[in-house]
Amino acid sequence: MQKVFAFFLTSFIIFSTTAQNMQRPKLVVGIVVDQMRWDFLYRYYERYSENGGFKKLLTNGFTCDNTMIPYCPTVTASGHASIYTGTVPAINGITGNNWWDHQLNRSVYCTEDSLVITIGSNTNLGLQSPRNLLTTTICDELRLATNFKSKVIGIALKDRGGILPAGHTANAAYWYDMKTGDWITSSYYMNELPSWVKNINAEKLVDKYYKDGWTTLYPLNTYIQSTADEKNYEVKAFGSNAKGFPYNLSRFAGNNYNVVEATPFGNTLTAELAKAAITNEGLGADAITDFLAVSFSSTDYVGHSFGPNSIEQEDTYLRLDKDLGEFLIFLDSKVGKDQYLIFLSADHGVAHVPAFAKEHNIPAVTHHRWL
Ligand SMILES: [Zn+2]
Repeated sequence: MQKVFAFFLTSFIIFSTTAQNMQRPKLVVGIVVDQMRWDFLYRYYERYSENGGFKKLLTNGFTCDNTMIPYCPTVTASGHASIYTGTVPAINGITGNNWWDHQLNRSVYCTEDSLVITIGSNTNLGLQSPRNLLTTTICDELRLATNFKSKVIGIALKDRGGILPAGHTANAAYWYDMKTGDWITSSYYMNELPSWVKNINAEKLVDKYYKDGWTTLYPLNTYIQSTADEKNYEVKAFGSNAKGFPYNLSRFAGNNYNVVEATPFGNTLTAELAKAAITNEGLGADAITDFLAVSFSSTDYVGHSFGPNSIEQEDTYLRLDKDLGEFLIFLDSKVGKDQYLIFLSADHGVAHVPAFAKEHNIPAVTHHRWL
């Protein structure tokens, strides 16, 4: 018997192939797609692959629609904290990506921590931990319930996307150092990167993605769910001379590790680390449930750069669909069919670009840019 759930926080899917005689999954994979509005499941449905991730989750999973987010602001840190703690910011303490601290008399960042050091690079981007989170996450509760025998790992390009879900007792959280192009962590978790993380860093996958560039997966004229390419309100994420698809990114290889975030390949990079974590840390290898919390951040960077009605976004979701599909196949072979449980949700949605709305006579004003 297949036991399958799915909810979405503006959409949330749970997908499990836990067999009847299997009391607990060997591995839980929590997936948060940053900025994924629930309707993107259906907006691009016809375009998602039969072997991809979204259709498989939708057809084999259970979706929980018509849910709501009962707090404000709906930003990345608060969204991830709320999904994984089951509480709202008033209780979990993550009231924004940043907030004003009256005692310190300054704005603080959600996961900042001056008591730790960066592990994996010589930048200050690793001075992070979950210390500002006031409650436990589901990953903490799993660790407590198994007397810390469960392994918990959080992974995301964004520090807050991996750290907050994985919680206080996580074995590790890894995030992306945009200055060096490496996966890093902090001394909150460990004093040296595991060799498998060092190895994947040494591959410099980002440079390979840059050399391949970004062309659309399908012919441009088939992107009929999106506005024609190149609007003047799009951010020139790849330099002021970039003229839309195909994007040549080769000049960034070796010298700019930031721009990959605003491409679908930031998600591919994340999926590669997730697979390597499962293999090398033995997640799901025994009967004690492990938890891998993965967040795909590039959907958010692409959405902020090009807008939710852009070809860039459509292509990013089509490519994420492929990455998710490959990830499911990987899980089937590595952890085993019927042995793992997946849920997929989003930390928040996205509104249309004000200039796009105005173009279509819909009242809109420019507002502060949230990430
Ligand atoms: Zn977000």
